[in-house]
Amino acid sequence: MMNRTLLLMGPPGAGKGEQAKRIASVSGMTHVAMGSLIRHYCDIPREGNICEVIEQNYKAGIPQSDVLVFKILRDYLGTIDTSKGVIFDAFPLSVGEAETVPAILDEFGLDQPIVIHIDCDEETAVRRITLRKICSHCGRTFTPGTVPYENNVCDACGNALIQREDDREEIVRARYKEYEQRIRSLLEYYGRKKYPVVTYVTGKDSPETDFQILKEKLHDIGIVL
Ligand SMILES: [Zn+2]
Repeated sequence: MMNRTLLLMGPPGAGKGEQAKRIASVSGMTHVAMGSLIRHYCDIPREGNICEVIEQNYKAGIPQSDVLVFKILRDYLGTIDTSKGVIFDAFPLSVGEAETVPAILDEFGLDQPIVIHIDCDEETAVRRITLRKICSHCGRTFTPGTVPYENNVCDACGNALIQREDDREEIVRARYKEYEQRIRSLLEYYGRKKYPVVTYVTGKDSPETDFQILKEKLHDIGIVL
């Protein structure tokens, strides 16, 4: 079970990125943050018009196509060490993407996935997201009460923290509702594929508590991080 694959899913504000980082740090698995991979894909020059397409989709608020996401992911997996396993954070986001997963895993020698579903009620999601601040440069997120948050300076790269225009309440509520539809279809699909699914509900605003619960739930199905 060295080449373990975890698919981390949850609504905006569930703390997926935070938990993925914790899993990665205790297990040596590689954290693949799909949103960030796409955002930074064009930090270096790419062949063809792929970067224009990504930019246009962003501007129009259209999700990137499955083909494009698949390509970016394959390019990335080809450059990293997958031998200790991979945590896919916020991927797949649709059944179409989920259908590409087995082929990707085969190609990179990864095991059949285990799904981690971090659930979070709408009010918790709204509260967390409307309060959070994001680094304008590296995209790290910060919560109230932390030193970088209060000082408005990222502790990783030293750049200014901002509150994103997209993190307004009405937009968060719309994103949440869209997520609920996606999750229903994905969970049905995973059920049909018989992937193990671990679910827990976050709400206490304690990433450490969430991590302990997550470890216990994984342990219950025989997975030790
Ligand atoms: Zn930063």
